[in-house]
Amino acid sequence: MIELLFLLLPIAAAYGWYMGHRSAKKDQEDVSNKLSRDYVTGVNFLLSNQTEKAVDLFLDMLQKQETENEIEHRSQFEAELTLGNLFRSRGEVDRALRIHQALDNSPNYSFEQKLLAKQQLAKDFMSVGFFDRAESLYIMLVDEPEFAEGALQQLAVIYQKTKEWKKAINVAEKLAKISTKADNIELAQFYCEYARILPADSKENPQTLLTQALKVSPTCVRASIMLGELSMQQKDYQTAVKILENVLVQNSDYVGEILPQLQECYQHLGQLDNFELFLIRASQASGNASVDLALADVIEQKDSRAVAQSKIYQKMGSNPNMFLFHRFIQYQMDDAEQGRGKESLTLLHKMVGEHIKQGFDYRCTNCGYQSHKLMWCCPSCRQWEKIKPIRGIDNPN
Ligand SMILES: [Zn+2]
Repeated sequence: MIELLFLLLPIAAAYGWYMGHRSAKKDQEDVSNKLSRDYVTGVNFLLSNQTEKAVDLFLDMLQKQETENEIEHRSQFEAELTLGNLFRSRGEVDRALRIHQALDNSPNYSFEQKLLAKQQLAKDFMSVGFFDRAESLYIMLVDEPEFAEGALQQLAVIYQKTKEWKKAINVAEKLAKISTKADNIELAQFYCEYARILPADSKENPQTLLTQALKVSPTCVRASIMLGELSMQQKDYQTAVKILENVLVQNSDYVGEILPQLQECYQHLGQLDNFELFLIRASQASGNASVDLALADVIEQKDSRAVAQSKIYQKMGSNPNMFLFHRFIQYQMDDAEQGRGKESLTLLHKMVGEHIKQGFDYRCTNCGYQSHKLMWCCPSCRQWEKIKPIRGIDNPN
């Protein structure tokens, strides 16, 4: 990476030299500002290893200069801004900060240029974890249309790190209004996080926040689970059932997460038959191992172990997986007569059980991070709603 940077530095230097030798005919504000932004974009391509794009951009800029006649001090600003960025990329943030602060404080540069300097200064502060300093700079940049979206995104990152969920909601709501992004998963998750920590005497209602989460992101399973559990606390089991069952429609990968709550609701309502009907529906729709195991439990209680066993056997044909296999051996083992056959089945059951126990229950579908508990934001790749139950995602259907 560093070698590539040094290979490309002559191009950047040539650009600087060229700029330095151009006569400053007149201050073409609009053109120069556009070029300044292009230059920063080019450097950012370099820093993110997109060297081909960087070369194309620098060459394009050089060509433009032949006709646009840029002014001299503009190139000095850009060279210094670049130098600061290079220092930051090499971990020498002290130097980057000094350069970017000097650019921001200099009386020689325009308002537009100082915004660029502020933007890079904020990145310097972010890279060393000075979030309060970065925050005040990004708050300034939010008022500038060209910088607003990037600044709001960074503010959302900051408030997520500092767990200031109310502020996170405010910036994500503003972002949703100006962004072209199709989904609002982050905003929905911020509502959920805020609802989770809301004090008992708060004027805000967690139900309202969670309903808002579902409004901005209708597939937000977390909001449904939280809303369902709130209804259960209020002993409104009929409403809880309606909300929890909707998880199957929202994202069937997570349907295993709501089964204990749903069963409890149906028990309170005295409608366990309806729980079975839901499991049959979910089994057909999702191929989730948790659903098939829960269905086997219900069938065993209602009919017999033989019927449950035949159901598991049937399901293994269409949807083979370790969890169903473990249950199947258990049935075989319990039915076997004493002897070597039963001993072998017991050993096999134990080995498969150990294998399942040693494995993880959840995995990030983005970066592969694994865990024993469900987390809505992956601690490794920082993506929301990418960690999923392995019983839900490892079962083809
Ligand atoms: Zn991840």
